[in-house]
Amino acid sequence: MRDLRDIDTVGVVGAGTMGAGIAQVAATAGYDVLMRDVEAEFVEDAFDRIEDSLDRLVEKGEVDADDRGAILDRIVGTTDLADFSQTDFVVEAAVENMDVKRDVFAELDEEVPDGVPLATNTSTLSITTIAAATEREDRVVGLHFMNPVPVMKGVEVVVGEKTSDEAVDLAHDFAEDLGKETWESDDKPGFVTNRILMPWINEGIRAFDEGVASKEDIDKGMKLGTNVPMGPLELADHIGLDICLDASETLHEELGDRYKPAYLLKRKVDAGDLGKKTGKGFYEYDEDS
Ligand code: NAD
Repeated sequence: MRDLRDIDTVGVVGAGTMGAGIAQVAATAGYDVLMRDVEAEFVEDAFDRIEDSLDRLVEKGEVDADDRGAILDRIVGTTDLADFSQTDFVVEAAVENMDVKRDVFAELDEEVPDGVPLATNTSTLSITTIAAATEREDRVVGLHFMNPVPVMKGVEVVVGEKTSDEAVDLAHDFAEDLGKETWESDDKPGFVTNRILMPWINEGIRAFDEGVASKEDIDKGMKLGTNVPMGPLELADHIGLDICLDASETLHEELGDRYKPAYLLKRKVDAGDLGKKTGKGFYEYDEDS
């Protein structure tokens, strides 16, 4: 079985919020990275976000200014999954949709050399179901990074029905090599984090919709009252309301009515108000925020 020494090039599928972050931390740790999205323009946007993020980390003294260029040079963008024949470890961070993930994994299984482990950054979907789209179910593992990836220390390792101990060990080792701390969850809907986080966010939205308090007071109350860094409404905006709705719907489907998404969450997503990324969710954002 492979270990960390076998990994030179990391493939990242999906160059959105999470994929760009994962590419950045992998390149910062010294790996060569191949970052793939479906359109060249999405890959370009990801490079812009990585540059901005590195600039902020340089300002804060967390990345050496001399390393900035080398980190960027280690990341290569592509729209062609066939390039992944060169990868030694893959993290998938495409949209949270089972059909898309299964298609991506089936394609990866064709392109990526046999022994290479395939990790998915899914927030809620079954690792076992994703793995079943491949002929290497023992080498498919959940590697659930938190947002924003360069800042958040934690990574959840999720163990599918057929995931081997070796793949689990390698997932922990890889995340730790990126400077993260890990914990492990069985492949149950939402794993540890989202199983608990999503009802909390939906309850915050319902409390707002039912007039319990203003959105500011709900967020303030939860921050000061429970010592969390963000309240439920600002955290929902930060994650993306579409991502929250997808996750809540999966949990609702799998675990029943106690996970029903809040009505207002659906209404906002239908209206295209997806949070920070569209400039408006529960709050409004300008370029600087
Ligand atoms: P996002 O919408 O910002 O990015 C997803 C990207 O995947 C888009 O750029 C899209 O073009 C791309 N994509 C779609 N199909 C693709 C394909 N076939 N090949 C390559 N790229 C493809 O979403 P995100 O927030 O980065 O989430 C990505 C994954 O990470 C999801 O599974 C999500 O549940 C999970 N996640 C998200 C967060 C969060 O806070 N946003 C946290 C943890 C995990």
